[in-house]
Amino acid sequence: MKKTYDAVIIGGGVVGAAVFNKLVRIGKKIALIDSASDVATGASKANSGLIHAGYDPEPGTLKAKLNVEGAKLYPKICKRLSLPLKVCGALVVGDDKKKVQALYTRGIQNGVKELYILNRKELLKILPDLQEHITVGLYAKTSALISPYLLTVSLCEEAIINGGELFLEEDLESCQKEKDIFILKTKKGTFKTKNIINSAGYGYNDVAKILGTEEYPLEYRRGEYFVFSKDSTTKVPCTLFPLPTEKGKGVLITPTVDGNYLVGPTSEKSDYETITTENGLKEIKEKAGLILNKVDFKNAIRVFSGVRTICGKDFIVEKSKTNGIINLVGICSPGLSSAPAIANMVAKLLGFGTKELKDLKKIEPYKMLKEYPIKEQNEMIKKNKDYGEIVCKCEKITKGDIVAVLKRPIKIHSVDAIKRRTDAGMGICQGGFCFTKVVNIIAKTRKMKYEDVLKENRGSKVAVGDIREVNDGN
Ligand SMILES: Cc1cc2nc3c(=O)[nH]c(=O)nc-3n(C[C@H](O)[C@H](O)[C@H](O)COP(=O)(O)OP(=O)(O)OC[C@H]3O[C@@H](n4cnc5c(N)ncnc54)[C@H](O)[C@@H]3O)c2cc1C
Repeated sequence: MKKTYDAVIIGGGVVGAAVFNKLVRIGKKIALIDSASDVATGASKANSGLIHAGYDPEPGTLKAKLNVEGAKLYPKICKRLSLPLKVCGALVVGDDKKKVQALYTRGIQNGVKELYILNRKELLKILPDLQEHITVGLYAKTSALISPYLLTVSLCEEAIINGGELFLEEDLESCQKEKDIFILKTKKGTFKTKNIINSAGYGYNDVAKILGTEEYPLEYRRGEYFVFSKDSTTKVPCTLFPLPTEKGKGVLITPTVDGNYLVGPTSEKSDYETITTENGLKEIKEKAGLILNKVDFKNAIRVFSGVRTICGKDFIVEKSKTNGIINLVGICSPGLSSAPAIANMVAKLLGFGTKELKDLKKIEPYKMLKEYPIKEQNEMIKKNKDYGEIVCKCEKITKGDIVAVLKRPIKIHSVDAIKRRTDAGMGICQGGFCFTKVVNIIAKTRKMKYEDVLKENRGSKVAVGDIREVNDGN
């Protein structure tokens, strides 16, 4: 007899992962299913990585409430998961004192602490390179940086080691209800569950169609970015925004938690397509230049885009008319900041409460060889020669680091999954030197064929077969 889950979550972005983590931590039997080859392959891998303070959303909205609540939960969650959270603050700058004052008032109404209005002289102390027309700014001291993908991965891993089950590359085919139990069929198997959470982000309506639940008009907005190298001269100490417009928070300049710099995003109506465009990149250059005198585009090492899924002006977090189903719709920005609070709200909507079990298992921190003191590094190399073999020269990631990640609870087999977890391929050469080495390590460690290793999702094969035979596959 197949087991019956308390809930099956569909979609392993940061929101689904936060819900997965929370429901397992309160002692429920939970499965998370995703059609992709890893978690965090949607909007959760391609965003600004900011835990917003919460001054931007309109007071009284779910966005405002969940952003402020979520931001407060992050320090404890990051400590538990051994994840860096850099509280570096955010500055919104412009030349319109009334707009800055309105943003400040909004923040106070939303319950945000540590907001300050600064004049030009005060702003220049933080950023000497500000454009001449900038006269005023709002400083939000609690704004923070996080790695959105490592967060998503860690939330899932912690759930898995405490009894949660993750199923990747699952295509949902049908849903039937027998008495109070849903029978979900995928191409690979069957799941019996008392509850379902549709957290499929951009795929919400595809899942809703199969479940026979509410569909919503969704709008997609693409946000393109430049990534600057760690030695870029655009060394902003905090996140820098222009004043927001009806299109969103605008093109920002920010450090990342890994020490790079991001400039973007645009906000262009689009399909769900993570492309970058000539016009988008041009717009970023123009807009960033309106804030700082000099932006170091010469040190750009990559461009990328992420797509927001929007449904009207607010998030929808609701019980479906079909008893036992929760709809999470239009979780655009500030969805990353809000994820832990959304998880609490879902737990309450399901009638589970939010009280967590004691003595849950802790995950091993994501710590690469280079992060240990030299003495320990030498001991690790002595015990395991794989730590003595550098694979990614730019980020100094070793074979031992990559093999260790492949042995963690989520069974990954793509180069991008390794990149998200180790930073291999994130440096100046962007994987030019290490890509094929990473493919080999994945194939050997996971005992799979070289041509079955993926770049990211199903269909993104890195090789189709041998051209000529080589002795050891290196
Ligand atoms: C450009 C940009 C910048 C942003 N910046 C910030 C920021 O700085 N701070 C902030 O708080 N928020 C930010 N956001 C918002 C934040 O990224 C999102 O709110 C958040 O990532 C949404 O997470 P999610 O889990 O709902 O969706 P996703 O991460 O998209 O996850 C959806 C998951 O569902 C899976 N899926 C889809 N269809 C199906 C299906 N049919 N069957 C099974 N699985 C399916 C996908 O594979 C995916 O894993 C930004 C967003 C963008 C695009």
